[in-house]
Amino acid sequence: MRRRVAVIGGGISGVSAALAVIDVAPGVDVVLYEAADRVGGRIGTSPFAGVPHVDEGADAFLARVPEAVALAERVGLGDDLVSPEPVGAAVWHDGLHPIPDGLLLGVPGRLGPLATSALLSWRGKARAAIEPLLPRTSTDSDSIGAYVRARFGDEVHERLVDSLVGSIYATDTDRFSLAEVPQLAALAQNNRSLLLAARRQRSAQGTATASASPIFAAPRDGMSALVDATAAAIVAGGGTITTSAEVGRLEPAAGGGWLVQRRDAKAPSGDDRSIDRFDSVIFATPAAVTGSLLTGAAPEAAALLAAAETADVIMVTLHVDANQWPDRLRAMSGYLVPKPAQRWVTAASFSSQKWAHWRPPGGGEILRVSLGRDGVDVLHLSDDEVLAAVLTDLQVHLGVEFAPLEVRITRWPGAFAQYRPHHSAWVESVERALPSGLFVTGAGFRGIGIPACVRSGSGIAGAVGAHIGDLEESAS
Ligand SMILES: Cc1cc2nc3c(=O)[nH]c(=O)nc-3n(C[C@H](O)[C@H](O)[C@H](O)COP(=O)(O)OP(=O)(O)OC[C@H]3O[C@@H](n4cnc5c(N)ncnc54)[C@H](O)[C@@H]3O)c2cc1C
Repeated sequence: MRRRVAVIGGGISGVSAALAVIDVAPGVDVVLYEAADRVGGRIGTSPFAGVPHVDEGADAFLARVPEAVALAERVGLGDDLVSPEPVGAAVWHDGLHPIPDGLLLGVPGRLGPLATSALLSWRGKARAAIEPLLPRTSTDSDSIGAYVRARFGDEVHERLVDSLVGSIYATDTDRFSLAEVPQLAALAQNNRSLLLAARRQRSAQGTATASASPIFAAPRDGMSALVDATAAAIVAGGGTITTSAEVGRLEPAAGGGWLVQRRDAKAPSGDDRSIDRFDSVIFATPAAVTGSLLTGAAPEAAALLAAAETADVIMVTLHVDANQWPDRLRAMSGYLVPKPAQRWVTAASFSSQKWAHWRPPGGGEILRVSLGRDGVDVLHLSDDEVLAAVLTDLQVHLGVEFAPLEVRITRWPGAFAQYRPHHSAWVESVERALPSGLFVTGAGFRGIGIPACVRSGSGIAGAVGAHIGDLEESAS
């Protein structure tokens, strides 16, 4: 009898997990259920402004960690990866200020560029300058904000570190786990002065990577291409992907294994519920959804998972006329808005300047503007209100009253998992509370960025293979 593994959720974590199980355990039947009518989850790409593939969510992944690049190569996209143009970003604070040189995720590694930037007040600069003299700061609170404020003061935290890290995760870094941002955590845990450590790391990186590969990469046909190619590799490897199949319940099967109950929207009406038995189940759904699916099968894990929090985001894509685009904004990738200065817009990417292959064939520029973060709800806004908020904020920030040629509004409920301080202890408790044969992965657990999702999804395969091996051994 062939062993069977179910993967629930077809985002990047789920497809990575399914493909890795096929690679690790080729004799096993792998079935992936996805509630939506397409795989990809929080990754989506569609045509815009005459450009065939413009991302609605993630538009790149970190290329200086191996996992996403390795997956792209595994599924045949290695030669299709492109990288952003070498253009700089800014922070808006009563005007656009280029991000000073020498930062590491917002942490200053040099005082010179800070001193000459108008982004900080003289008081803020003076406070930052004493950082190398301060005694070591405890990381016990595991809050990025608490730690960075103690080292550099509020201005560096709010205008630099929180602007950069907060915009990556749509988070409030006062309430985000320091340990879950590995670059910052390594600096904080191993050094007394963050500034001196950032300086050492930047110069080491500079030496190692001066002529090396870029920091970010993306498939030329958009991030969906990575998910779609992974899905195709799953099918080519003998796996099955069923979309429009929402899993509603999991129960232990008599005689071992698990019963997965699902509603198949494509089934003829009246016959849309199916139950299948599996030897192992991987949940690659958002953490709170995983909790609700586990209520009957693993109540302790379900109770822990109920505490998972997320932030919603709206991504507004605009095509603006070339006549409206000021020369002073050329050669820039976009800007971030620090929380104290935010109204609605948290960041704006000048996407067709960032990506050469996103230049609209008919001219003009593509902008991607983000709204929403932890602590600021946006989903209640109507499309008209969203657009009005974006255009008003852009006018304040850039001094231009845009009349966009085309607008696309993408709503991402639960866009970003929020890793509260001591998140890793919560993850370990969840994993300990899972019965044998059940596994969790996805952005809610061990990393939010795409490489971390690939690592977490693929990493499950070894444990699933070991579980299947144990079943075989006890059956023989
Ligand atoms: C606007 C935005 C911009 C981003 N930018 C970047 C970026 O530039 N770089 C980067 O690295 N990361 C970025 N991210 C983060 C990254 O895209 C996500 O963390 C990642 O895609 C999450 O993947 P996942 O598979 O863990 O979860 P998801 O993509 O959420 O996948 C979960 C899947 O489970 C399915 N599902 C839910 N319930 C059920 C059910 N009951 N039965 C069956 N299926 C179910 C869902 O439909 C979904 O497809 C961005 C995210 C957003 C929203």
